[in-house]
Amino acid sequence: MTPPWIARQTEQLLAQRGHAWLLQGPSGLGQYQLALALVSAWLCEQPAPHGACGQCPSCHAIEVRTHADLAVLMPETQMLELGWPLSEKAQADIDDKKRKASKEIRVEAMRELVEFAQRTDARGRGKAVLVFPAERMNAVTANALLKTLEEPAGNVRFVLATEAAHQLLPTIRSRCQTHTLTWPVDAEAKAWLAEQGVDAPVAEALLRSAGGRPDDVLRQNMAGLSPAWWAALPKAMLKGDAAHLSDLSPAQAIDALQKLCHDLVLRGSGAEPRFFLASQLPACNASTLALTDWFKRLMHSARTAEHPFNAGLMLEALANDAQQALTARG
Ligand SMILES: [Zn+2]
Repeated sequence: MTPPWIARQTEQLLAQRGHAWLLQGPSGLGQYQLALALVSAWLCEQPAPHGACGQCPSCHAIEVRTHADLAVLMPETQMLELGWPLSEKAQADIDDKKRKASKEIRVEAMRELVEFAQRTDARGRGKAVLVFPAERMNAVTANALLKTLEEPAGNVRFVLATEAAHQLLPTIRSRCQTHTLTWPVDAEAKAWLAEQGVDAPVAEALLRSAGGRPDDVLRQNMAGLSPAWWAALPKAMLKGDAAHLSDLSPAQAIDALQKLCHDLVLRGSGAEPRFFLASQLPACNASTLALTDWFKRLMHSARTAEHPFNAGLMLEALANDAQQALTARG
């Protein structure tokens, strides 16, 4: 079921002309879902103003991930996560352990895209290219995409989705019409989460910890991160308790600690915390300077969090560092 805020934006975009869209905005707002809804509507045989019909052979082909006129360009890790098939060659290489699934959009995939763009469409509704997350293109792949964007061969339309538009080449950004994703209203997000089986009090608490992002709430809920766990996080960090982070990946731990740091800075300036309740924050008087330094270190760690040398050690280091920041004398 498409969330209502995604359906609303699909309708907005379909009402405008454009052969290349850049969907941007912070994470957890549904860039991928909106991109998929848009390409589905472009290729649908009986599209309605609000999007694809969901019934026709084209919609079915997208559902089973085998549409001949849709090229999906993603890092292999992302394709596997979202259930898109890799090319036979890539799958064979990974199965034979010749290499690991790539976290970047590969040059080979881009070459296939250039061929795809030059082919005639198979179903007579034109072709569509979906790139996500678009910031995972390196300079070579980005330049190859730029060429196809500049000289679209035949009737091919593009949608690039990103959570980090600032990392894209300016030339790519300027070739696309930009749409910034809008936030769901609170009631809408809660109703949708209820449909996904998240209990109302849990949804309420997790929406706070997820900064209002329903997708992140679902992920947290599935990862078993309960509201009680979240509520206890600040005090656990005051004690340097790394075990409290043990169910998280380093990237998730960093995200959680950044939220804690953010809220402590807010509290220090007399404002209401955003992700935690004031009562959940530890009584500490870490200085703004110590907190800002901590935030910088967390940002630095985020860059290496995807391939840490040892995830357990990294979590321990993060918990230690959190404790030091929280107990620094102000
Ligand atoms: Zn359809």
